[in-house]
Amino acid sequence: TDSPIVLNVNGIEVIYNHVILVLKGVSLTVRQGQIAAILGGNGAGKTTTLRAVSNLLKGERGEVTKGSIELRGERIENLSPADLVQRGVVQVMEGRHCFAHLTIEENLMTGSYTRKDKAEVARNLEKVYTYFPRLKTRRTSQAAYTSGGEQQMCAIGRALMANPSVVLLDEPSMGLAPQIVEEVFEIVKDLNHKEGVTVLLAEQNTNMALRYADYGYIMESGRIVMDGPAADLRNNEDVKEFYLGMG
Ligand code: ATP
Repeated sequence: TDSPIVLNVNGIEVIYNHVILVLKGVSLTVRQGQIAAILGGNGAGKTTTLRAVSNLLKGERGEVTKGSIELRGERIENLSPADLVQRGVVQVMEGRHCFAHLTIEENLMTGSYTRKDKAEVARNLEKVYTYFPRLKTRRTSQAAYTSGGEQQMCAIGRALMANPSVVLLDEPSMGLAPQIVEEVFEIVKDLNHKEGVTVLLAEQNTNMALRYADYGYIMESGRIVMDGPAADLRNNEDVKEFYLGMG
């Protein structure tokens, strides 16, 4: 828990459409090499928090109206999503977002648009395939004809093509069968261990997320209501009663 702080979200408020206050002062920190999880039910504000970090609120008519966000001590609220990718921060959006008509490999290649060095792109692609052997076997398949799990892997793999140091992962378990969710989380854990990628994920599946995360933040109605090491949260009576049945 003493590694340097990579991401520091400090008391942010987010308003949609100029009027709807959705985040009411959210603070959290993610340390180097951690997997941190934002947990909570539908509409709690998990996605909004991730979007605030990756500056993807504008398209949703949302804005950060209070607080600050720092990446390794540097303010990032005013950086564009592309600048953030350059600095190693990428988001994998909820709902998988693969291009249906492109093959798996073409999808992965769209993730390397900021990389000009062909040899490096080829190395990244091989690396993605070592973590996701399923994607290698499906590389020439159109994404539309692959399974939900393969599409989620494709979305994560595409993010990895940008060589990120921080991955924001929105609801990786959504719509997937339990054993596939497990497979996806195992790969994320592996990436975290072997590549040192720092992960901030949002999950409704509290149970699964707390098995893989180091640290958890529980959100309700735009606020963090509880946080702690994942092991502590797993054993906390309130968490057990209110959240562990959920996913
Ligand atoms: P989910 O798991 O459903 O994504 P969440 O915890 O990620 O839930 P958010 O998507 O961040 O929650 O939504 C938080 C609140 O903000 C909800 O009340 C939602 O209706 C509202 N909201 C989200 N996006 C917009 C938007 N573009 N315009 C207006 N309100 C929005």
